[in-house]
Parts: sequence; structure tokens; C-alpha cells
Amino acid sequence: MSRFPYLDEYEVHRTMPDEGTSREEILAMMSAMASRENVVWEDGHCSGTMYCGDHDHYDFLNQAFSNFSYVNTLQRDMCPSATKFEAEIIAMTLDILDASALEGRKPGGLVTSGGSSSIAHAVLAYREGNPNITRANMIKPETAHPAFAKAGHLFGVDMKIAPVDPVTLEVDLEWVRANIDANTVALIGSAPNYGYGTVDPIAELGAIALDRGIGLHVDGCLGGFLLPFGRELGYDIPAFDFTVPGVTTISADTHKYGYALKGTSVLAFADQSLRNSQYFYLTDWSGGKYCSPGMDGSRSGGLLAATWAAMVSLGRAGYLRYAKAIFETSAAMQDAIRSHPSLRIMGRPSFLFSFTSDEYDIYLVNDFLRTKGWRMNGQQYPNAIHMAVTRPQTQPGVVESWTSDLADAVAYATAHKDEPAKSGAIYGGVAGGMSAEADEFIRAVMADMMDQQASIPMA
Ligand SMILES: *Cc1c(COP(=O)(O)O)cnc(C)c1O
Repeated sequence: MSRFPYLDEYEVHRTMPDEGTSREEILAMMSAMASRENVVWEDGHCSGTMYCGDHDHYDFLNQAFSNFSYVNTLQRDMCPSATKFEAEIIAMTLDILDASALEGRKPGGLVTSGGSSSIAHAVLAYREGNPNITRANMIKPETAHPAFAKAGHLFGVDMKIAPVDPVTLEVDLEWVRANIDANTVALIGSAPNYGYGTVDPIAELGAIALDRGIGLHVDGCLGGFLLPFGRELGYDIPAFDFTVPGVTTISADTHKYGYALKGTSVLAFADQSLRNSQYFYLTDWSGGKYCSPGMDGSRSGGLLAATWAAMVSLGRAGYLRYAKAIFETSAAMQDAIRSHPSLRIMGRPSFLFSFTSDEYDIYLVNDFLRTKGWRMNGQQYPNAIHMAVTRPQTQPGVVESWTSDLADAVAYATAHKDEPAKSGAIYGGVAGGMSAEADEFIRAVMADMMDQQASIPMA
């Protein structure tokens, strides 16, 4: 799909239109766009991003959202419903993450606007919870999400990057131990990481954190609402939640495998005192006394309502049923990969698997898969591609089309092994490190996304 397919099809608003457009016309245009864009993922060929995929579930969430979409949750006297929804979203998440194991402590949480925001609030909390340290640092496995680097950049917290084993992709625990210093406020582990779907040795990291008297953040943005059910189903997934001694915070995205609308995530705290350390308040402002639990000011009551509705409508039984289908589908898709000796699965994955080849550039496989409508995510160092299995892949026929398309892709890659990959070349162009050209290219891509479609005409 072109990035700007609508340029020629619909009027481009480069200035505010003088007269309003009818609601019917606006809604007809949007529903035409949405139908066309939904086709990209509805057949189950798209990795990640569409976690539920049921239009009737989305319709239900939209109905829940619509009751409170225009409510500002800052004005709590006007919306006690938001207070109920938020508290229960936090309580249900703490339950899924086994916070009942935290004897003698008072666990708590924050509902944020997404995974990056949950991670940012965790980094902020570790900084604010250690007021005597002037320049705090955290230790992040190389495979952990860029949101940690972003948060460190925003809040002045250094990220020490721990190497991972190239085969198991597990973080080097000796390196972690050796690199904790007086300013280290917390360690980081992923359950699982976004690139490879592998789970860090959380129990070992927890033991180190406890021994050194520092925090441990578990990034369960992706797995927080799925791995607990995978464990219940008997899959070989190490404990990563609050049953593990030393775990102090966990991020879990309701807007991923929580099957809520985009725009919410939960940051769970083993102890409320750490959460409470990062509140912002200003009591002597002329505009009045101000306080907010997190970085956002106004928030929509609709998102809390829709997230609550997703969780309560599914219940444990619903999450377990969805998890079973996802884990079974992922296992079947991984079996197809293992049937090809030229392909190699990276580490010990879970519902998300990544694979590469030691015989040809894996982006050749990606080139072919793209012609069959597969939308994989790409990695580098070494080149690899991954699939985060979501509910759309659990539809009948998807595993079968994966198995046959993958076989054809392997044949294509083998036949073209001496040619450069098309998708790899583009990816490599972006990935080429911190060169001036790469920097300029990335800025141009970002600007294109926001300005290109309707640049403002200059007088
Ligand atoms: C998605 C994801 C994040 C970031 O979450 P956003 O919702 O995209 O901000 C962080 N960590 C992992 C493992 C993720 O998959």
C-alpha cells in the first residue's frame, strides 16, 4: 500500500475549510478508509499490532468508550465511574501478575497511555525513589525495548547496556553483576522482549537486585496478559511476575494482549511507596492546587471504561481460551520453520518467534513472504525476522498458508542466495548506525509522516 493513497482520492485540507462538511460524508470517507486498511491484517498475515482482531469485540469496546469518551478523568468529582474503572483495572492486573504473593506489602499501579509510558513512569519512579543519587543509572539487556533508552534520555537516567548471549539471547548475568555501581537504581528484564520473544532469567536478576538492594523492572508490556496463561496451560515459561523475589515493577499493556483499545497500559508496583514517589503536584500555582498521578493531564474516561470492559467481558476464562489458541498456533508455525534445515529459530521463544538463516540472507525469505501478503517485523545484528502471533493468526487456514508460503519462500531464497534482498537493502539503509545520512534519513521519514500529506501553503 502506498503511504499516501488518499492524496488523489479525497480533498486535502491544507487550511481550515471555510464551511463544515456533513457528518454523513465524513463518516462514509472514514469507513471506506478503514475497510481498505483492515484488509491488510484481517487474513492473519500480519505480525503483532492487531491483538484481538474481532470486529464484534471492537464494536463492544467502542460502545463502552462512547459512554465516557468526552469525560476528563482529572475531574474525579464528576466521574466516580472512572475511579471505579481505574482501581479495578489495576487490581485485576495485579491479580494476573500474582501480586497476592507480596506478603506484608501494599502493591499498587498506574494506568498509563501505553507501554512506552509505563516504562517511562517506571524509570521516573526509580529516579525519584532514590533522591540521594544525582545521576541514576539502570542496567538494560541489549534486547530490551527502546522505550527504556527514550525514558533515560527524557529523564536523565543512564542506561547501561548489558550484552546477551548470541545463541540463547539471555542477558549476561556476570556482566550485570559486575556493572552495578553506587548509582544503579534498578535492573531490567523482559518477559518477553519484542525482538525475539525470549524471556530473560528474571529469577536470577531478582536475586541480584535483592542482594544489591536495588529495583527490578520486568517489561511485560507484550507478555503481561499472555504469559501467565501460557504458564497455566503448561508451556515452559519461567516465572516472571510478583512471585519472583526482587521484582519491584512490571509493565503490562492492556492495549496489546489485554485486548483493550489502543491507548492504555498498566504499570504495576510491588509497593505503592515507589509509585507514590513520582507523583507531580504544584500547590502554590495561582490557577489553583494541581496534582496528577502520572505525566498526562486530561485523560479520556472512555479509555478506562473500554479497558475495564475488555477485561471484565473476557475474564480469566476468556484470556485462557485466547492464549491457548495463540500458543498452539505459534507452536505450529515454529514447527514449520524447524522443518527447514536452512532456517534457525533464535533462542527459546514463546508466542513470538524470530528466525534467521546461516545459509542465505533471511530478508530473501521476507521478500517472498511479502508477495504473499505476510507482514513480518525485521531485526538486525544478525538479520532476522519475527512474527508475534496474535488472534488473527488463530483463524482456520492461517497455519496452513504459513507452512506452504514458507516452503516456497525457502526455495526462493535458496535459488536467489547470491542476490541482495530487497527488503533487507531498505532495512540496512536505515540501520547503518549513526552516520549523518542515516540521521537525516530518519528525520525526513518522521517529517514525511506528519507533513507530507498536507504541507501548509506559504504566502
Ligand atoms: C510494545 C512494547 C513496548 C512499548 O509499548 P508501546 O505501547 O508501543 O508504547 C515495550 N516493551 C515491549 C516488550 C513491547 O512489546
